[in-house]
Amino acid sequence: MSSNRCLIAGNWKMNGILEEALDFLGELECNPAPEHVEIALMPPFTLLHSLCEPLNEKDVRLGAQNVYYEPRGAFTGSISPLMLRDAGCQYVILGHSERRDIMAESNKQLSSKLAAAWAAGLEPILCIGEHLEERENGTTNAVLKKQLAILEDVDGSAALTLAYEPVWAIGTGKTASPEQVTETHAFIHQELQRLGHDCRVLYGGSVNPGNAEALMGCPGVEGALVGGASLKADSFMQIVKAAAKAVS
Ligand code: PEP
Repeated sequence: MSSNRCLIAGNWKMNGILEEALDFLGELECNPAPEHVEIALMPPFTLLHSLCEPLNEKDVRLGAQNVYYEPRGAFTGSISPLMLRDAGCQYVILGHSERRDIMAESNKQLSSKLAAAWAAGLEPILCIGEHLEERENGTTNAVLKKQLAILEDVDGSAALTLAYEPVWAIGTGKTASPEQVTETHAFIHQELQRLGHDCRVLYGGSVNPGNAEALMGCPGVEGALVGGASLKADSFMQIVKAAAKAVS
């Protein structure tokens, strides 16, 4: 893990009301953040404005879980990049498997979202990952290569974080083995280099306090995107500490 690039980002998904978020903040002891580790939280849209300032005081960056690609207009139910900036967001998760699979988000939509996020000054955390069937039939690298092709005509200097999240490991309690993580991250870094991007690559998929140290210690892993274990301040901070140990 390169020393100044580590990010631990919590994805709350469709969880969290204000009272729960304030309890979480009350228990979150992370200021100052451990050396070389950046911390970010992606609560639901409804909490962004309320959490911006308190998170800032704790040295935690704010992000959103999705964005629409138009700046404004008749798009009922959608949130624009400008609105995310206005709410204090620095990051936005794009291409999470739950959006690709449940909301049928296409690569074409994703391309537009990436461009819109960059235009507004947001840093996308682009998620890629294979399904179990693809892992089992040996097509993982081909699937990842296809997902990464979205970066083909993108300027390599664009602010970007990548998250490798095997779909079969998300929310299942199963994690990729350190060997699988090391091998797949090496492939992703090689592919990114070919595409002219030098961005950090996080691992995501059932990261918890018990496995964080082993996963964060894998070569080519530069942090984690954490779902379930980010809902409790204590387990989230244990993962942050495991990452700090891995980069030290
Ligand atoms: C995620 O939401 O990106 C994720 C990895 O979830 P979990 O940690 O719960 O598997």
